[in-house]
Amino acid sequence: MTREAVPPNKENLAAWLQYFDDLRIGGFYRDRGIPQAVATSGQVREESTELSDLKAQMAKSKAAPSAPPGAYVGFPLNPDLVPRPKATPATKFDIVSIGRDESLFTELEKVKGDTLERIRADIGECTRCRLCEERNKIVFGSGNPKAELVFVGEGPGRDEDLQGLPFVGRAGKLLTQMIEAMGLTRDKVYIANVVKCRPPQNRPPEKDEVATCIPFLFRQLEVIHPKVIVCLGNIAAQNLLGTMKSISHFRGQWFDFRGMQLLATYHPAYLLRNPAAKGDVWKDLQKVMAVLGLKLPKSAAKA
Ligand code: URA
Repeated sequence: MTREAVPPNKENLAAWLQYFDDLRIGGFYRDRGIPQAVATSGQVREESTELSDLKAQMAKSKAAPSAPPGAYVGFPLNPDLVPRPKATPATKFDIVSIGRDESLFTELEKVKGDTLERIRADIGECTRCRLCEERNKIVFGSGNPKAELVFVGEGPGRDEDLQGLPFVGRAGKLLTQMIEAMGLTRDKVYIANVVKCRPPQNRPPEKDEVATCIPFLFRQLEVIHPKVIVCLGNIAAQNLLGTMKSISHFRGQWFDFRGMQLLATYHPAYLLRNPAAKGDVWKDLQKVMAVLGLKLPKSAAKA
């Protein structure tokens, strides 16, 4: 007996994603979503007829289905297959569109009327992945909820896990110095991580852990909607940009992330081990300052 294929449409997709999420297996399709390379601007990719159909249907329907209150509506499925040529860059720097913005799935991820408080409440005393087993405190994020600049790290370490605050250990102290060198203070920016619970022995978070947790970060970024996101290190950069490439290939370049400008630089923990890389990071932060219209603080300008 042959089964008739159900034509793909936004409602079907939403229903399937919700179904997988209800089963708590939503993260599995993450694996199909990581492209091997970051697309450079102007690059044209072929897309499947199926995706063209989906995009056409998406364009026809005005509003994305709104999620029921509190529902997590899914990690983006292969968003990089939905390229969108960028219009004029918003700054003098080249911004590379990697197709993460305004895909079908970006829409499905949005929670209408979302707030940071609601995201925190949705996380609750999370047991969605194994990281809950050894954590002390969930590290949600901290800083100005209306920040123009958000730093995204990898995941809490020991100090963060004990205090429930991001970047408060040795690497955090260096991050604080970096922020102050930009003429800012921690309470003017927002700081969050890809995963909200400490991976044991500070190992990198695993794919399924990231897939489970990162939708909360995406929601935080949508709510804050900063002008600039700075990814600190490989894990943040690769997962926000949807690439397996190492950060050294695209550090200091501008990307478009859902209408926000994103730049990746080295993680402060890497700088503690490789102080020679501080110069590169400072160059990156100066690019960020230029976009935000920040002047060098007098003390730094004199030095
Ligand atoms: N490293 C991170 O990536 N995040 C923190 O919060 C602390 C250290």
